[in-house]
Amino acid sequence: MGYSALDQSLVGVKGIGIQKARQFEEMGIHTVRDLLFYFPYRYVDYQVKDLATTNHGEKITVEGTIYGQPVSKRLPKKRSLVSVKVVVDHFMVTAIWFNRAYLKNQLQSGRPILLTGKWDKYRLQITVSEHEFLDTSKTTKKGHLVPVYSLPSDLGLTQSGFRKIIDQAIRQYYYALEDYLPQEVIDKYKLYTLKESIRAIHFPNDRLDGKMARRRLVYDELLLYQMRIQLLKKLNRQNWPGIKRKIEFDKVKAFIRSLPFSLTDAQLRVIGEILGDMEQSYAMNRLLQGDVGSGKTVVAAVALYANFLSGYQGALMVPTEILAEQHAASLKNLFANTTIQVELLTGSLTEKNREAVIGRLQMGLTDVVVGTHALIQEDVYFKQLGLVITDEQHRFGVEQRAILRRKSDHLSPDVLYMTATPIPRTLAITAYGDMDVSIIDQYPAGRKKVETHWVRPKQFEKVLAFIDKHVRKGRQAYVIAPLIEESDKLDVQNAIDIYQQLGDFFPNFKIGLMHGRLKPKEKDEVMSQFIKNEVQILVSTTVVEVGVNVPNATIMVIYDADRFGLAQLHQLRGRVGRGEHQSYCILVADPKSETGKERMRIMEQTNNGFEISRRDLELRGPGDFFGVKQSGLPEFKLADLMQDYRTLEVAKKDAEFLIHGEVFWHDLKWEKLRIELERVGGLFEQVLEG
Ligand code: ADP
Ligand code: MG
Repeated sequence: MGYSALDQSLVGVKGIGIQKARQFEEMGIHTVRDLLFYFPYRYVDYQVKDLATTNHGEKITVEGTIYGQPVSKRLPKKRSLVSVKVVVDHFMVTAIWFNRAYLKNQLQSGRPILLTGKWDKYRLQITVSEHEFLDTSKTTKKGHLVPVYSLPSDLGLTQSGFRKIIDQAIRQYYYALEDYLPQEVIDKYKLYTLKESIRAIHFPNDRLDGKMARRRLVYDELLLYQMRIQLLKKLNRQNWPGIKRKIEFDKVKAFIRSLPFSLTDAQLRVIGEILGDMEQSYAMNRLLQGDVGSGKTVVAAVALYANFLSGYQGALMVPTEILAEQHAASLKNLFANTTIQVELLTGSLTEKNREAVIGRLQMGLTDVVVGTHALIQEDVYFKQLGLVITDEQHRFGVEQRAILRRKSDHLSPDVLYMTATPIPRTLAITAYGDMDVSIIDQYPAGRKKVETHWVRPKQFEKVLAFIDKHVRKGRQAYVIAPLIEESDKLDVQNAIDIYQQLGDFFPNFKIGLMHGRLKPKEKDEVMSQFIKNEVQILVSTTVVEVGVNVPNATIMVIYDADRFGLAQLHQLRGRVGRGEHQSYCILVADPKSETGKERMRIMEQTNNGFEISRRDLELRGPGDFFGVKQSGLPEFKLADLMQDYRTLEVAKKDAEFLIHGEVFWHDLKWEKLRIELERVGGLFEQVLEG
């Protein structure tokens, strides 16, 4: 790795001794580089203002000259006050300080002074919070944006002390801030150099200067991040050679034409992306995002068909047995005019049936198998597994992928993950960085909007009447029980209570009960009764969330809707609106906060999952959006994924070009960036080994 003066320890900086260096260590600042890259989180604007146009009570910075002698006063409770007249422009103002008695000797008539404080327009008085004598101070704040750093309160560091150290470090190590971006990139994007940006991020001359610094540093941060991700992807591709096959596009097109509906442009686009991967020699590792009802299943079917044509078996993995049954049925339907053999493999098969299914898989008699986790059990082998698709929040760990690989001699099958959790593209390419992302951002034509209404708990009688009316007409309803945070037990109790109440209220309807404490078999039993309309109203905790399809269910009632995330509400709502009848979603909630109310209104206003997640993000910020812990989102120093999404897109393109191309790895021009990437943890050895 290249040597840089920036990697020296802090004691090299004038003004930092062993003691101070130790304090900085505690802040995670170990080297000169750490110090220079410890950025301010905001700036105080000390632009000198004009008194005449400043409002009463506003904070102001002015420049003036002391006139006459200071006066000091003792106040009750050991407090004191010093005041002095200062000429500012053509005003004579009074500057006052509290508890700064020692200043009296310094406030000599005629000295130029910079004052920051609260302006009292009626008394022509400034209550000073900060001042600087302009005849002695070296680094004047005048006309500057002054950086403010986040400093731990227990280390006894002051803002001004820290500023001085940063200032000193920049002076001493400016020369060492060698740019790792080639000049042509700097020119192309009109970026600041690294030197300029480090100087300006700490001590901007004005807003624009600071902005330019931030712009450059955000690009660097995102570029390096994306480069690491692309490197990971390159590694994956090296380590998991995939199946290079011929796609029979003519036959695939004919299959698409034979479908009972024409595909949306978005569906066609993602099919293109998927088939493109399947042709390559690396194994596909792709995330397919599409809102509920956007038509992911048929996309999966087309991929499975292409996979079949190229001589391989396919597997579709889903989280529950019910879903497996539904998917198997719809695939059989879609493949009705082909010779594809679809089979179901779930945990509830009898031993004998299971053995028969596994046997047919192994002999290659089955082309597509749909199942739950039972699919990746030890004794399940394929003759030639070429494509694995997982539906709904099924994420394989590395281990499970290894199991999958073992199931088909040496080549990794292509893997497609389908999810209905819509995440804005910027977040998706960051959170799922090593995967390729395809997005279906369009709904099939003629889809009816689910009418959504927010009601208060006291209007619940009306909700019951509404359910009554629709169930009498032959429809069905879901009722989602209130959610008690962190307590599965209480959730279940709630569901049971509501189940009993509804039972009393609707003696003529059959009510079903579903919750997480039921055994899988019991859940499936309730669910299949609901599918067959033997149960009209299904009371459930949120376990019903995942992809079931009951087109006759047209009402979704959600208790305590304000306790759910918007994405989750949207998923729940996606359970209705799947058939020919108008559907309704009723949110029962009494949110206290303005944000809570806003969230209910968002649900009323839009049915678009991407729009919802975008607005949810605005309300919550990306960390919260994913849930901080499991987010998988990196912590950036400067970059903000919402604000900087354009830069992220550019950085991603550039990173892809560099990492997957040849030039970056060999050209001298990129050497410094290679070193920088290695320094930030670029997994180099593995790539070079591969
Ligand atoms: P999801 O993306 O939620 O899994 P599905 O694949 O279950 O959505 O599709 C929802 C419904 O829309 C299904 O009944 C499916 O047959 C239908 N569908 C899918 N694509 C189209 C299309 N292009 N035009 C009309 N209907 C479609
Ligand atoms: Mg689906």
